[in-house]
Amino acid sequence: DVQTSEKLVELAKRRGYFFQSSGAYGGVGGFYTFGPQGAALKGNVEDAWRDRFAVAEGNMEIDAPTIMPEPVFEASGHLDTFDDMLVDCPECGESHRADHVVEDNTEYEDAESLPIPEVEEVIAEYELICPSCSAGLAGQAVETFNLMFATNIGPGDSDPGYMRPETAQGIFVEFPRLKEYARNQLPFGVTQIGRAYRNEISPRRSIIRTREFTQAELEYFIDPEEDDPDLESVADVDVTLYPAREQNTEGSSEIETTIGEAVEAGIIGDEWVAYFLGIAKPWYESVGVDMDRFRFRQHLSGERSHYAADCWDAEGKIDGNWIELAGFANRTDYDLSKHDEYSDDRFTIFRQYDEPKTVERATVDPDMSYLGPEFGGDAQTVVDELETLAERDRSAFDGETVEVELEGETHELPVEKTGFSVDEETIAGEHITPHVIEPSFGVDRLVYTVLHHAYREDEVAGEERTYLDLEPEVAPTFVGVFPLQSDEDLEAVADEIVADLRDAGLSVTYDDSGNIGRRYRRQDEVGTPFCVTVDYETIEEEETTVTVRERDTTDQKRLPVEDLDETLAEIRDG
Ligand code: ATP
Repeated sequence: DVQTSEKLVELAKRRGYFFQSSGAYGGVGGFYTFGPQGAALKGNVEDAWRDRFAVAEGNMEIDAPTIMPEPVFEASGHLDTFDDMLVDCPECGESHRADHVVEDNTEYEDAESLPIPEVEEVIAEYELICPSCSAGLAGQAVETFNLMFATNIGPGDSDPGYMRPETAQGIFVEFPRLKEYARNQLPFGVTQIGRAYRNEISPRRSIIRTREFTQAELEYFIDPEEDDPDLESVADVDVTLYPAREQNTEGSSEIETTIGEAVEAGIIGDEWVAYFLGIAKPWYESVGVDMDRFRFRQHLSGERSHYAADCWDAEGKIDGNWIELAGFANRTDYDLSKHDEYSDDRFTIFRQYDEPKTVERATVDPDMSYLGPEFGGDAQTVVDELETLAERDRSAFDGETVEVELEGETHELPVEKTGFSVDEETIAGEHITPHVIEPSFGVDRLVYTVLHHAYREDEVAGEERTYLDLEPEVAPTFVGVFPLQSDEDLEAVADEIVADLRDAGLSVTYDDSGNIGRRYRRQDEVGTPFCVTVDYETIEEEETTVTVRERDTTDQKRLPVEDLDETLAEIRDG
């Protein structure tokens, strides 16, 4: 299977799917260019994602900048915690991801969640070596390395900025405006498809781990107390699950179940996450991921991002290894609360009650400066403390005195001195911070997986052939049109067919070079579902017909040219 990856990467370069960027200058690790076929396939996958996760779900789509100022990432926590573990080789000086070195050479499956001293111990205990030059790594310090690309906004360095490491923050920071477009009504979702940047320590496996990649993310804002997902619509979806508790036990195994049963059994604890797993699975299948090499794996508790409450990954199997294709996380109110705290804007939504409520509001005298001298001059602390008590625990005010704890000491205040009173107030609702459910898809890894799972080798008329069994919906080229031979009459008809099919919105390639067998092979390797050949029968017979060849079976049929565009468009649209 390893060979499949090697062959695929070679085919990808030769046929214009993807290749390392800046090759003329020696290339640079972790940057890839999608060629004509790759860009078209990636575009089709993105369109399919948009159709399902934005349009069909009634969610909005935005397009935010890729560079954002430092305060955004101070608030989001990325500046402090978006790190990987790095170990330098004492011999060759190459840097490696310490957790990958551990995972690749020991039985530890989730080294990312280990504390640094433990990773250092494992490296020493197993006498792990540098993947580049085989020098021993024992005794080397493991350090954290922040993955964000830093830059400066404008001249000088007074305004640092960062390339966004996820598209999500571009949605969160605009929440105060986006909620207005949603008419202040929860739930609502905002999607974004765009580039993200991570200065990966060791980019690897071609486009699976790069330093610049495309994400398709949905941030779905909910009121955790009021909103429920439409679980019934996905209850029957079959899924392969690998829950955390299975990963911790020996002889662990995956579970075949349905979304409905998994929620009922408490395997998927978060119903919103379950809902999005339920719509993701058939979608992955529709773009061509092999369902025998697909599962959802729950994150172990140490593995979760700094913001996530529960998280499942969609995983695809490549060369016998599972790779993460998407993460489905309940980010709770983490991001919006942080931006609310760090910025001048409000990241809340007004939750209107069904009926106005009368509530008691306890207040204290805001001017208790006269108390200052009694408590070391810090009257404001007393006011803050009393206000908290007034809201939280009214019983503290019953009776003659109230107890206030200040810097570890308890003071007794006579109630009449605090200005304490209770008023009735009618309120229509309250401000809440929405929670966020986030399906976060990596597009490049998905394109790779789709190609890998579509890679086929067989024999046709005693000759070996390679073809890509791509779904017609995403195939970059849908039909190849060939005149059988170099002949003006045949070429004229072929030109007309090309024009008609393009008018019908199909992506068509015209090829008149080489023998017909070679031309078929070329399209097989690109994964073109159909080829149309114009031959002498086409121009001689009364009813104009052409040969239509199907990629996977190589079966050929004669079909009338007249409704060829409709017949093919129908097949493409399923
Ligand atoms: P990993 O553990 O593989 O580094 P992650 O857990 O950090 O990934 P997320 O932050 O959940 O990834 O990002 C969401 C998605 O973005 C991933 O599921 C993946 O498909 C994609 N992604 C993340 N990092 C990269 C990368 N360096 N290259 C390509 N795609 C990536």
